[in-house]
Amino acid sequence: MFCPNPSFGVGEHVWPSWFISEFHGQGPFTTSRAGAPYTKRDNVTPHTSDALLGVHVPACEGCNTVLDTTIEKPAKPVVRRLLALRDSPNKLILSADECAALARWLLKVGLLSAHPAAEHDHPGLQRDQDLPQLSTVRAEWLDWMRTGSAPPTEFSVFVTRRDLRGEDAEPPKKQHIVLPRLVVDREDRNFMSRSFGSTGVNVTIVWHPGWPIDHAQVDAGRAARLWPDAREVDFGALPQVHPKELSFWDASIGTLSVSAEQLDVLVQHPLSVDSNPAAMFFGNHEATHS
Ligand SMILES: [Zn+2]
Repeated sequence: MFCPNPSFGVGEHVWPSWFISEFHGQGPFTTSRAGAPYTKRDNVTPHTSDALLGVHVPACEGCNTVLDTTIEKPAKPVVRRLLALRDSPNKLILSADECAALARWLLKVGLLSAHPAAEHDHPGLQRDQDLPQLSTVRAEWLDWMRTGSAPPTEFSVFVTRRDLRGEDAEPPKKQHIVLPRLVVDREDRNFMSRSFGSTGVNVTIVWHPGWPIDHAQVDAGRAARLWPDAREVDFGALPQVHPKELSFWDASIGTLSVSAEQLDVLVQHPLSVDSNPAAMFFGNHEATHS
């Protein structure tokens, strides 16, 4: 997937085997969608497995090695410390370099697990026609993984802590940051967000070239931004927050079609929970008729 060479074996493990073995002995695992477990062929018995089931994408041996050296190895000790923290309030200082290593790994997992070429070991997931996938994959989303360079700074990576069992009550107030479908001088910028998580951690990756984000939870010390401009953070000092407290909405209605000059004016107001999508689309209306 990263180069013209043929895939080797099952390719690249999106959730690496060292991560899956962190959950050894905690099964059996079931996989659910909207609370309904995927079932066996009888459509009744939940499909269970003793180990967490993986997902992989085609990759040659050379690319696999590069990803292992430049993404997996630097992130492994950091991810293990996050998982070991559980719900403890103890300090967990991540240096700027550790935040950047964690962000690289989370971008890899978030992008590859939603790639149209991803293959799921779980038969229910693999069969599911409606599994969320990236509708577009830009070359620069993947190129940095193969070359071992830094991810584009047009990505943002946010993390929060969450209830270990995911059984916390829904928040009384839910906030949203709307990502417009932004077309600048007829070029779609492919704004995109994706959220996922693991035990005690929730992650959101966002592609938003040219339009800054003001993240209310980061400002309030309820979330950390790992990328870009990684800086030291005490992950242990973050409170547990429900993933629905602040979520990104990828606009599915309308298109904000502007010129580069019009965008210069718009981006003076960062995307935030206070952004007014109606005003953005009004901007579209004006742009169309001016
Ligand atoms: Zn390759």
